[in-house]
Amino acid sequence: MERLQKVMAEAGVASRRASEKLIATGHVQVNGQTVTTLGTKVAAKDKIEVDGVPLHREKQVYYLLNKPRGVISSAHDEKGRRTVVDILREDEIEERIYPVGRLDYDTTGLLLLTNDGALANKMMHPKFAVDKTYVAKVKGLISNDDLKQLRTGVKVDGRRTKPAKTRLKDTDREKKTSIVQLTIHEGHYHQVKRMLAAVGHPVIKLHRESYGFLNLQGVQPGDYRELRPEEVKRLN
Ligand code: URA
Repeated sequence: MERLQKVMAEAGVASRRASEKLIATGHVQVNGQTVTTLGTKVAAKDKIEVDGVPLHREKQVYYLLNKPRGVISSAHDEKGRRTVVDILREDEIEERIYPVGRLDYDTTGLLLLTNDGALANKMMHPKFAVDKTYVAKVKGLISNDDLKQLRTGVKVDGRRTKPAKTRLKDTDREKKTSIVQLTIHEGHYHQVKRMLAAVGHPVIKLHRESYGFLNLQGVQPGDYRELRPEEVKRLN
């Protein structure tokens, strides 16, 4: 038996808190009866409806994808471009999964996909703040001063970024490019590209190599694997 608001959140109806509100305000029915008590527990066989619309309770699945370039990080694309969900659907994965956060169209690397709305909401919340490590190829030769600025925080859109960990991995003096590793836990739009542009080094290529304790070991570009139960537990 599980708490009704937890089941609703896992099915992607709303966050737990918002699901509690839906229950308390009489929007939720269990086996045809409106339920307003917050401690209510439900079993797998119970039929749950929100304003009369049945809740689809699927087995929860968690995938770690090594996203290739040229793929959209969403479940659908209006322009019909290939999405990260299409990659998994090609293998007949039928659950209604969606990505946890986003990587840009041209960014490669680690992306989680799940149908567990509660976990996805939690992971995208700034409070959860997992370390995300990126490797970027940038224009120009990165100096120690640039690294120091990135470490302490740079101005992006009038806001100072939180301190980042940085490591210069390589420089190509002839081509005037550098490879830098950056670990951040913020996830604003184009965060890494904008941080590097702010210190004068536009990104040529961007790859996410880890997300919290998860990395891409053994997962080739375009491939994915299921998370192990102990990994899911650690994320929760
Ligand atoms: N930062 C970016 O600029 N792009 C990404 O895809 C991820 C982080």
